[in-house]
Amino acid sequence: KPLVDKISEQNKVLNYQINQLQVDVDEKTKEADFRKEFTANVSHELKTPLTSISGFAEIIKNGIVKEEDIPRFAGRIYDEAQRLITLVGDIIKLSQLDEKQIAARKERLDLYLICQDVIDTLEPAAFERHVDVQIMGKHLYAEGVGQILGEIIYNLCDNAIKYNKEGGSVTVNVHEEDGKAAVTVQDTGIGIPEEDLDRVFERFFRVNKSHSKEIGGTGLGLSIVKHGAAYHNARIRIDSKLNNGTSITIVF
Ligand code: ADP
Repeated sequence: KPLVDKISEQNKVLNYQINQLQVDVDEKTKEADFRKEFTANVSHELKTPLTSISGFAEIIKNGIVKEEDIPRFAGRIYDEAQRLITLVGDIIKLSQLDEKQIAARKERLDLYLICQDVIDTLEPAAFERHVDVQIMGKHLYAEGVGQILGEIIYNLCDNAIKYNKEGGSVTVNVHEEDGKAAVTVQDTGIGIPEEDLDRVFERFFRVNKSHSKEIGGTGLGLSIVKHGAAYHNARIRIDSKLNNGTSITIVF
């Protein structure tokens, strides 16, 4: 009897270990699939603007273009190059967050001042799109890396302006939630369909690919928000109503 008990006990342990191994293998496979998909996406996203740049440059080089069309073609080359610069910048930010390669030390930061700074930077974009941006709330603090917190809030405000409607508004609120400092960025924009709410934080996911591209998105902004928030152990909440607006809260 004791021997049977012992064998049964060992069996349980073995079974448990085999299950753990399976979980490990599943996770590694998922990670490998994810990396493969990410690499494929990056290649595609880089290739598209590069192909355009190369095409326009070749036409100009071959002298096929009429003199008066050159500024327009040069403009397209410039726009595509700018797109590449933003894209490469976002990819680097993401990989740094991924590898936790951030050497900077966390410090006590005034969230209200960071938000005010972002709003000042985005003023020309808001002006151009006739969107009114307001800040409210109070000076609350969080332990963090200033550059990353700035990027998180920048990406949220940038989206709130980009995906807004003519004459719409954006409200940035620095407030307390269950005794924790929180920032909410709320807009009166086009909203996100309910079925896409979870997916918007995925790399390269865009609700409307052509629309997002037209207004200059890389599809990486909210991934940076997600990873940046995780780096600060902050929680993200998203509420959105199609055609009505979106509200994203980061609770530190
Ligand atoms: P992008 O660079 O395309 O803006 P993001 O990762 O920042 O990429 O956002 C992913 C997608 O989520 C966007 O393409 C857009 O479709 C949607 N989205 C993000 N923020 C908002 C918002 N405030 N209102 C409506 N849609 C949004």
